[in-house]
This record gives sequence, structure tokens and C-alpha cells, in this order.
Amino acid sequence: ETPAEKFQRQHMDTEHSTASSSNYCNLMMKARDMTSGRCKPLNTFIHEPKSVVDAVCHQENVTCKNGRTNCYKSNSRLSITNCRQTGASKYPNCQYETSNLNKQIIVACEGQYVPVHFDAYV
Ligand code: C5P
Repeated sequence: ETPAEKFQRQHMDTEHSTASSSNYCNLMMKARDMTSGRCKPLNTFIHEPKSVVDAVCHQENVTCKNGRTNCYKSNSRLSITNCRQTGASKYPNCQYETSNLNKQIIVACEGQYVPVHFDAYV
């Protein structure tokens, strides 16, 4: 799996325009293999076409949380779902709170301007 493929697996859900139910994150975090070994505590899914998300790599250049300079912020708000592990969640029974949001996203891009890391939403 390349970093670009990993980004697609962890952060892209073009099939749905929004999270359809409060169970979305419980199902998707497992389906996308983010609950083996440990429960990934925080993860964001993006409900937009791949072309829209790839294009963010050519939008506003911003500094990433880790200080690197290869992050890019979307010009517009995108449909996203934030998955946050609940306090009661205990591995291997990973439980998540599902929140639908419309926010600008910040992603890191590498090489031929492809997203490889989800940094934040604002
Ligand atoms: O910000 P932090 O370093 O804790 O993020 C770790 C990982 O969590 C990121 O690489 C990303 O995969 C995920 N994350 C996310 N949505 C956020 C914040 C973090 O998907 N809003």
C-alpha cells in the first residue's frame, strides 16, 4: 500500500454524500481496517469526488501541524465525517461518535501533488 493508497483507504468515502447514521463510524472504521491492533482514536472521512480532493493539493499552501510546509487547505467547505473514539470504547470493541461537518480541509501532499495525510479541518 502506497501513502496515496493509504490516504484513499483511511479518508475517502465518495459513495456517500454524508454519514447516513450514527453507526457510520463504527462500521467504516472497521471496514477500512483502522480497528486492528488498536482503535485509531480520531479519523476523518471525506465525501467528495477524488478529483475534488486531489485538487486541494493545488490550493492554499499552509504549514502542517508538524511544521512541514507541504500542507494545502481547500478553498471551499467539503462534506466530511469526523469519527472520534468514545470514552467507553475498549479495544477490540472500538466505538465511535459520528459527526457530519462541512469544513475546509487541510491535507499534506507529496510527489505529483497527491494527498497522503489528513492534517485537520477548519
Ligand atoms: O493530529 P494528530 O497527529 O493526532 O492526527 C493523527 C492522525 O489522525 C492523522 O494522521 C489523521 O489520519 C487523523 N486525523 C483525522 N482528522 C483530524 C485529525 C486527525 O483524520 N481532524
